[in-house]
Parts: sequence; structure tokens; C-alpha cells
Amino acid sequence: MWIINKTVNEILNLFLPENCLGCGQKNTYLCPECVNKMPAPPFGKDSRVLAATSYENPTIKKAIHALKYKKAGKIALPLAQLIEVRLHSIFNERGSTCLPVRQASIIIPVPMTKKRLRQRGFNQAEKIARHLSDITSLPLLTNVLYKNKETASQVDIKSREKRLKNLKNCFCVKNPEFIKDKNIFLLDDVFTTGATISECRKVLMKNGARRVTGVVVAC
Ligand SMILES: [Zn+2]
Repeated sequence: MWIINKTVNEILNLFLPENCLGCGQKNTYLCPECVNKMPAPPFGKDSRVLAATSYENPTIKKAIHALKYKKAGKIALPLAQLIEVRLHSIFNERGSTCLPVRQASIIIPVPMTKKRLRQRGFNQAEKIARHLSDITSLPLLTNVLYKNKETASQVDIKSREKRLKNLKNCFCVKNPEFIKDKNIFLLDDVFTTGATISECRKVLMKNGARRVTGVVVAC
């Protein structure tokens, strides 16, 4: 039964009209009122990961679900804006007041395997990262971190320990000279157990990054 529901959902999403996912207001996927109502993220999940809001919020849940379908690609922009507004101080702290630090900050999206990318047609984390890079003027690097091994779907693995094992040696770094001594904002859509971000951080640090801060829409 859930398979039928899933298919119906997918078809509905293809025809997603441009209405606010929270209140239905026209000509926007996320209206400013609904964005303002989004709660702060829960504390204490991982101090090295910053989230714009809580995944408990039904509007953000819908937005992230919709983000994964091509027709709803426009949702990446309001999600990037949400991140920038909520985490403004961290981009700013390392920003305009301190140029050398700003020059050392870059954005890297959590990658997908080539195969997965072909199936979906785009990487939703990269879509958000691209907009965030435009908004903050921090450079986006997509030629550094790669996922070279397909894994069992993380959704089916409940424990963090098993997820970490599942992801072990999946990620690799090319062009390490681009991340040497850099502050990296590692972008993903959702933080669940943190296994993906933790594994990416390990690989980036091993290859010379100075600091890796996870940045997600929701956790
Ligand atoms: Zn709304």
C-alpha cells in the first residue's frame, strides 16, 4: 500500500502548483509569514552542525520532500534564504569585518554518486548550496568532495553506528589544495543521525581543511 501512496505522491509533486507549502498563498513556495513561523532547531544534536529550523515543522517537511522533485527545484532558493537569515551571524562573523577569514571560507555540498545523480537528475544539497553561495558571496566548490560508492539507503538504517559503517570509505577528496586551511560550510538538506556529515568531515579534515561546519535546512 505504501508503494501506491508513494507513487501517487510523486505524481502529485510533479504538478506541484506554485502555492505556499504552509498556507497556500499563491506565487510562492514558501511565503515570508510561514518562514517567520518556523521554529528554532532543537539544541544538542551536534555542536558542529548548524540548522536553520526544526524538521518537526510540517511546512519544512513538505518543502524538503518537494525539493527532491525536479519541478520543485525553485524551493532551493527560499531554503537557502532561510539558512542565510537564520544563520546570518555565522556567515557574517566570518564575513565582511574580517576579510582574511572570509577569504578562507568556502561552501561544499554533500555529494551524491554519479549513478544516483543520473537517476535524480540533480543534487538537492548542491541546489541549495549554489543559492547560498550567491547570497553570501562565499565560493562554492563542487570539484573537491565526491561520493564514489553507492550505499544502502540511509533511511532504512536506523542506528547511527550502522549508518556510519554503511558510509565508511564512501567519500573521497580530489584537488585537496583547494581546501587547505579553509573553513568549510558543508551543506546538506536534513540532519538525521549526522552520519553523513560526520563521515564527510573526517575526509575533509584528513585532506587539510581547517574547520568543517555542517549547515542544514532542518534537524
Ligand atoms: Zn505561507
